[in-house]
Amino acid sequence: MTASLSIEELIAGHAAGRLPEPVAMVVATHLSLSPSSRRLYDGFNEVGGVLLEGVEPSPMAISSFARISALLDDRALDEERTGRLLGRSSRWPSPLSDYVADQLPEDRWRHFGSGSELEIETGSLDFRVRLIRVKAGRAVPKHTHGGFEVTVVLEGAYRDQFGRFGPGDIEIADGDIDHQPIAEPERDCYCLAVTDAPLRLTGRFSRFLNPFIKM
Ligand code: ZN
Repeated sequence: MTASLSIEELIAGHAAGRLPEPVAMVVATHLSLSPSSRRLYDGFNEVGGVLLEGVEPSPMAISSFARISALLDDRALDEERTGRLLGRSSRWPSPLSDYVADQLPEDRWRHFGSGSELEIETGSLDFRVRLIRVKAGRAVPKHTHGGFEVTVVLEGAYRDQFGRFGPGDIEIADGDIDHQPIAEPERDCYCLAVTDAPLRLTGRFSRFLNPFIKM
């Protein structure tokens, strides 16, 4: 099962300038870390006029994106992307760096069992954007989604049943997807996530914990 919204659709929407700011910020952060998605974005921009008229992105653009993605070894890219992260003047990739300071006081993080999260103010009432920090080797509570969840990995990596997600990778989840991301053991995993509805915990303790989930 995959989400009903694809990465290609998100990138096409961003190229057409149609995404709400919080979603655009997360997609643009992904683009700044992912050369393959950036190429797809540039391709969509070239046909931007067509997209604005409501025509679907061409199957050719989408299949070439899939081919490029298949050729790229995510692990090999981790170092390059992390190197780019470390080489920046800001800790966070652009445009996220416009929204959050490099040093985030510990009291701004809200802790949950295996990690913590920090709200990012975007001024939107419809979307919630968070930095999520999962401790090395620990699992996020098993959950499904009341709406869409778009997650971009910033540092470290996690795995769920859909694969491995390293720096710059993006995962889209919705109400059809029930997953439990687990951070790889080497280091803490930092992600940027945007949601348009509350998550719903689905593990053994979900009955008790769901009332505490804000969104
Ligand atoms: Zn999720």
